[in-house]
Amino acid sequence: MSSKQAKFYESVQRNFDRAAAHTDIHPGLLQQIKVCNAVYQMNFPVRIGDTYQVIEAYRVQHSHHRLPTKGGIRFSHLVDQEEVMALAALMTYKCAIVDVPFGGAKGGVKISPRSYTPEELERITRRYTVELIRKNFIGPSIDVPAPDYGTGEREMAWILDTYQTFKGGEIDAAGCVTGKPVRQNGINGRTEATGRGVYYGLREVFHDEKLLAKLGFSRGMAGKTMVIQGMGNVGSYTGLISQNEGDVKIVGLSEIEGTIYSENGIDMEAALEYRKEHGTILGLPGTVTLPDRGDWVAIDCDILVPAALESVITEENAHRVKAKVIGEAANGPITAEAADIIIKNGGVIVPDMYLNAGGVTVSYFEWLKNLSHMRFGRMEKRFNHNTYENIINTVENLTGKTINEKEKQFITRAADEVDLVRSGLEETMISSFHQIMEVYHGYKNVDNLRDAAFITALNKVANDYMTLGVFP
Ligand code: NAD
Repeated sequence: MSSKQAKFYESVQRNFDRAAAHTDIHPGLLQQIKVCNAVYQMNFPVRIGDTYQVIEAYRVQHSHHRLPTKGGIRFSHLVDQEEVMALAALMTYKCAIVDVPFGGAKGGVKISPRSYTPEELERITRRYTVELIRKNFIGPSIDVPAPDYGTGEREMAWILDTYQTFKGGEIDAAGCVTGKPVRQNGINGRTEATGRGVYYGLREVFHDEKLLAKLGFSRGMAGKTMVIQGMGNVGSYTGLISQNEGDVKIVGLSEIEGTIYSENGIDMEAALEYRKEHGTILGLPGTVTLPDRGDWVAIDCDILVPAALESVITEENAHRVKAKVIGEAANGPITAEAADIIIKNGGVIVPDMYLNAGGVTVSYFEWLKNLSHMRFGRMEKRFNHNTYENIINTVENLTGKTINEKEKQFITRAADEVDLVRSGLEETMISSFHQIMEVYHGYKNVDNLRDAAFITALNKVANDYMTLGVFP
């Protein structure tokens, strides 16, 4: 058992127990919520070159209190059962926090994707999907995977195609997986969703007067400095959107090859372009490379965003953190012991189960789109546009004044799918933040946002169980 993964699972369990102590949920029900309902470990052969490799993989359904279950699939050589169980549990709490009516699940395939060709990855993904189909562990009303570390829309398209090959007659088959390419039953705005949600969540923190007073920060994100670990899906969109829409200054970036820093700010687009071209961020003009990759945690900044993997801030390096706000864009990046140190030093951790819930929120929208067989906005867009035009014409007739073409276009623009998705995501992140803050500011002895988020989630899941009549 790898210690980082076990630590991650222990941290999730420990955080659960700590939050549970603040609730009046029956101990038997708490135990039911805590455990994983179904764990499927599989080993299957895949032809690689002229030999066969036996691949170890998992799918864990943490909670069946709501169906389908939902959670990403991770491709990483670090995958093990504890890790997938911890991630599946987090999904249950995450869905509850953002009012997405699913139970939590997670999948893991123990491979290093960089070591395989796209054809080999396709074979592995399809074979994994077949194993899930065989055991009834996938389906629009059963369990719906999505992308996670090491996977993206390409893998989701392979999963859908495999599912449809076996279940061709199912009318809702497209809803068996989310995070698909837009042209293959995906939804506009899913790829950026987790990073966009991270931005909306952090923006809320910088508008909460009580938190700002505690931290000694001015209102708003503009001009605040940020450091990001991981420039994959979540890290890159968090950086791009924070910079472009929030006027945040990115001063440090960390990737597998090392960490770069610039006091004057790093343009996120340029950094991503540079890495694409050179295969590394090191050497990006205007930046310096820090002596050690791990130095990213100690950079002097306002907001630290771990967006790569779990257990990267531990009791060994937590005392080096200078940032006052740590946004958990990744799942479980801070161990329970490290969190204690950061909180004792006056830091605020914005917990993963809230902050990176944008992905599952928009996955939920995608699933709804698949079940309705229609893109969002199709019915009302033209109607709204015509209504706005009528209003303008009436105003012009009544006032005798003319509104210029540019202004007309701006006012009469009706929402496209991506506008509706972004607005639904923004609303979700704002309203969930307020629910968490109600607990944080309202409960005695709750001194951190993770406990507050956990309490919010536990109360909702417990309530669901009681509604189902499982517990009186
Ligand atoms: P990804 O594979 O797209 O990107 C991860 C990045 O981290 C890669 O660029 C990788 O090179 C980098 N990385 C790995 N080890 C590193 C290290 N030691 N130092 C610096 N960089 C390192 O993965 P992702 O989808 O962006 O997921 C990242 C995290 O966010 C994971 O914890 C995942 O569970 C979580 N998450 C993802 C989503 C989603 O929608 N993709 C949703 C919620 C949570």
